[in-house]
Amino acid sequence: MDKVTQMYGTNVFNEQTMRQRLPKETFKELEKTIQDGKPLNIKIANAVAHAMKVWAIEKGATHFTHWFQPMTGVTAEKHDSFINPQDDGTVIMEFSGKELIKGEPDASSFPNGGLRATFEARGYTAWDPTSYAFIKNGVLCIPTAFCSYTGFALDKKTPLLRSMEAINKQALRIVKLFGHDDVHSIKTTLGPEQEYFLVDRKYYEQRKDLIYTGRTLFGAMAPKNQEMEDHYFGTIKSRVQAFMNDLNEELWKLGISAKTEHNEVAPAQHELAPVFSTTNIAVDHNQLTMEIIQRVAKQHDLVALLHEKPFEGINGSGKHNNWSISTDTGINLLEPGDTPYENAQFLLFLTAIIKAVDEHQDLLRLAVATAGNDHRLGANEAPPAIISIFLGDELTAILESIENDTPYDTIGKELMKIGADVLPKFTKDTTDRNRTSPFAFTGNKFEFRMPGSALSVAQPNIMLNTVIADVLDEFADYLETSQDFEADLHTLIQNTLKEHKRIIFNGNGYDDSWVSEAQKRGLLNLKTTVDALPYSILPENIELFERQGVLMKDEIVSRYEIMMEEYTKVLNIEALTMIDMVKKQILPAILKFEKELADTALLKRSLTETLPASYELQTLESISYFMEQAYAALKDLEIKVKELHVIDDFEIAASFVRDMVIPAMAALRQPCDQLEMLTDTNYWPFPTYGKLLFGII
Ligand code: ADP
Ligand code: MG
Repeated sequence: MDKVTQMYGTNVFNEQTMRQRLPKETFKELEKTIQDGKPLNIKIANAVAHAMKVWAIEKGATHFTHWFQPMTGVTAEKHDSFINPQDDGTVIMEFSGKELIKGEPDASSFPNGGLRATFEARGYTAWDPTSYAFIKNGVLCIPTAFCSYTGFALDKKTPLLRSMEAINKQALRIVKLFGHDDVHSIKTTLGPEQEYFLVDRKYYEQRKDLIYTGRTLFGAMAPKNQEMEDHYFGTIKSRVQAFMNDLNEELWKLGISAKTEHNEVAPAQHELAPVFSTTNIAVDHNQLTMEIIQRVAKQHDLVALLHEKPFEGINGSGKHNNWSISTDTGINLLEPGDTPYENAQFLLFLTAIIKAVDEHQDLLRLAVATAGNDHRLGANEAPPAIISIFLGDELTAILESIENDTPYDTIGKELMKIGADVLPKFTKDTTDRNRTSPFAFTGNKFEFRMPGSALSVAQPNIMLNTVIADVLDEFADYLETSQDFEADLHTLIQNTLKEHKRIIFNGNGYDDSWVSEAQKRGLLNLKTTVDALPYSILPENIELFERQGVLMKDEIVSRYEIMMEEYTKVLNIEALTMIDMVKKQILPAILKFEKELADTALLKRSLTETLPASYELQTLESISYFMEQAYAALKDLEIKVKELHVIDDFEIAASFVRDMVIPAMAALRQPCDQLEMLTDTNYWPFPTYGKLLFGII
């Protein structure tokens, strides 16, 4: 066996392992409970727990943990030991079914937006048996959902699973209409492409901004940036290659198939694309991937930056969310087919997505709203903050002919009748490579390009699944009562396209003219997190989530509060870090340089009155000028931060950050970056952009 096959999935308690290690009956019953989505009975749980424990101990594990995804964006784990001391001084290794299916982390300090009163501060975690247990750092990890005792979701996994159930239910109704009685479940699929930067650890450690905030808060441009585009798909440096080899191995052991690894447009930027899988598993895998990228990087004296915008003026990092939907019989519902019926079904799903995206631009936008991603959306390399759909010219032309009852073929063939005609073959449009569209159809899936690199990819998928489920629900209601299915299907698709075609845009999303064009079309342009998040609590959006059974009002309101507070917290830390760096590093360092300039000028003068000292004096003058500016801006930022700290209301605080703190931070950065360009490198207190971006050799 080759190396990859041999190590693939070795740290995963996957189906193959379960089949080998569980009694036949238990395995069958487990499979059935997983399929039906029913809770596990304790007898099976005990048997599974036992097999899992034996397997984990063989692999050297002594502890287990319920691994969950609280609202903080990272994953959480609380390790418990298998070890159970006995009266006779010995120990036995124990792990019960109860411990497998339910955990009670003392999790009172996870953000809950007021959902759990302190008297019932404990939530519980529950095994998601559709996602395999695995071993990480010698600990058996059990993927779980995290809820309060009253049943409120306190994590990102619970609503994700609920949203998958919602779309399963509605999509099943649709495929039944097309005669697919053999289909029993429909699942969404996800392939999240992960971008990140690598910097040398020794430079990272000298930058408080990177350490505290994950991004540079200061930094003048290096003489070379990304203009040569020589990094894109360039040869990978041997140190980075060694890192990637180790990373691949670690991921393979966890059953995560990292498919591609190439350099991105920006220097020091890389991308990893896994082979897609069922959404909840892909989400777990992406969380693990982010964690493992960081861990393996450290082993190579590198640091992986997952922030959306680590460097000003350099492309940021995203996480392209490739989304599709498939039946348990193996049909990708976004794959155009060969028969009129398959095509009609494809067009119905496509139309549903077009409607869902157009009607819920606000929800898709806010699903990717974070302080970090605000630097990216609308900047030059990322999709704009405006949501639109790219379909490519050919598919758009096909839809237009359906919409207008005009021939697709201009030579004047017959009209396309849905359910009667085969779709004209259209090629996967290569122009989707322009990457400017936030939501692009790429042949058999949609690529949502707005999510930022650090985001939990659960969020955009909860939204996509829910809004699409809701439209499918509406379509199914209409079609199930239809007397003339084909005619009504045709009308439904036609009317929906007429109503929602404004969301389709195949042009350049970076172009300024698109902003005004989008405005004319009435599309939303929510520039910041603070602009976007309040849409989550609009009555119609709360109704939508309740209708689809994904989130209840209290859960939505608490999430809104958590996310707004997170935005404020992130920027508060950034502002405080800036203040610290300016006061303790930048200004004191420049003072020394100023002294050297002044001393030299003075010395020259004492030697002879006429000795020129232009460099010393003019530099001193410029430095003094920018130092005054920096100092004034520092005072101003300090005042703004003080003002922020006395605001109690989370909405007012977030708006204050957007309108007052962020501009004050920009005003402080500007003179400091000027100072960097005037100062002797030996005096500058931390590594420059040049070192960070081109420092891995
Ligand atoms: P590229 O974007 O370079 O053309 P691919 O289209 O092969 O590359 O895939 C990009 C990402 O999309 C990969 O992570 C891949 O696994 C994922 N992907 C491919 N098919 C699907 C699908 N049906 N559902 C979800 N993700 C998919
Ligand atoms: Mg792609």
